[in-house]
Amino acid sequence: MSIWNRRKTVEVDVGGIRIGGENPVVVQSMTNTDTADVPATVAQVAELALAGSEIVRVTVNHDAAARALPEIVSRLADRGIDVPIVGDFHYNGHLLLARHPDCASALAKYRINPGNVGSKRRDENFQAIVRIALEHGKPVRIGVNWGSLDQHLLTRLMDENARSDVPKDAAAVLRDAIVESALRSAELAEATGLGSDRIILSAKVSAVPELIAVYQQLSPLSDYPLHLGLTEAGMGTKGTVATAAALSVLLIEGIGDTIRVSLTPRPGGDRTEEVRVARQILQSLQIRSFEPQVTSCPGCGRTTSTYFQEMAEEIQGHIRERMPVWKDDFPGVEELEVAVMGCVVNGPGESKHANLGISLPGTFEEPKAPVYVDGKHYTTLRGETLVEEFKSILLDYIERRYGGRVGDASAAGRPA
Ligand code: SF4
Repeated sequence: MSIWNRRKTVEVDVGGIRIGGENPVVVQSMTNTDTADVPATVAQVAELALAGSEIVRVTVNHDAAARALPEIVSRLADRGIDVPIVGDFHYNGHLLLARHPDCASALAKYRINPGNVGSKRRDENFQAIVRIALEHGKPVRIGVNWGSLDQHLLTRLMDENARSDVPKDAAAVLRDAIVESALRSAELAEATGLGSDRIILSAKVSAVPELIAVYQQLSPLSDYPLHLGLTEAGMGTKGTVATAAALSVLLIEGIGDTIRVSLTPRPGGDRTEEVRVARQILQSLQIRSFEPQVTSCPGCGRTTSTYFQEMAEEIQGHIRERMPVWKDDFPGVEELEVAVMGCVVNGPGESKHANLGISLPGTFEEPKAPVYVDGKHYTTLRGETLVEEFKSILLDYIERRYGGRVGDASAAGRPA
């Protein structure tokens, strides 16, 4: 469905989820539990997977975390959750993977940060992880991060630049170092025997223009699939908007085969927010469809009651609640568009662009709400049962349009 042309990349299989090639852009996320705490990690992986994360990464930072991995994967399987689990390694990945072959086997992919594999025996340690990946038939992500960039490489490039007749600015040299670190590491992985169909690259920074520039530089230089993410995006609106701004530019340019949104949750906050934001970015760009979209106007002085806002929220919640059933019973329903509008100014017009739309009465307008189906006036609703009647029209439309197996009335969401 996407109107953007994706850059051609090699396909990499991560525990059954295919990244790159012709495959849809994959949504992934990362836990923030102590991985050694098996119940907490299983619970959070399950939440992330149920929210739509197609791959989940966990920290593997010590022996207890590595020992917990097989149990985590096994408990998830017992719950019917087969989301691939990726291990995030820094400093001691070569030691942990060697000491814990069951962990190496349970993981679907290893993330290696080439800036964090040791300073003296950097290449040896990196190659040790790659050999374990080869032994277990696993892919790796070479994940460069500007916060932990290989300092030897950066210093060398800075020195070379200082001697150049036409020196670049420091930001450009930093980008060069990030790109070179990723490509040089991929070259070393291939030289160690790993196929190009087992390598994914990422090059994360936390500044939006720099992230865009670094991926634009990296993208044409290889056909490895690219994992996109604005690292340390921050909290709330800032993190969400900054991530959407950066990733959207790249995705529109066809860059990116999998995405992760690195939001900082509030203490005790909902970790699945990052999954919802990632999915919404892809759906807003019409790259993928996950659930029906509700278009609603922002409201203004023409509609001073909160009724249309409450209705938009209720319809969005209703759809979200029903989707686990609807997506199985009505294939294609995720592409449905619904409009809930506040008055006659844009209401009827916007409603006509949606599959199903309702234009509520604004202040001083006659208390009636025309409903449009596929651009044509279908009926006009009035009175207190308006929301329930609209839900019923919505379900009728979904049944008619997306056919398939219709569950019993209560399961599908029909009012009793
Ligand atoms: S549709 Fe009506 S209520 Fe909504 S923003 Fe436009 S003018 Fe205001």
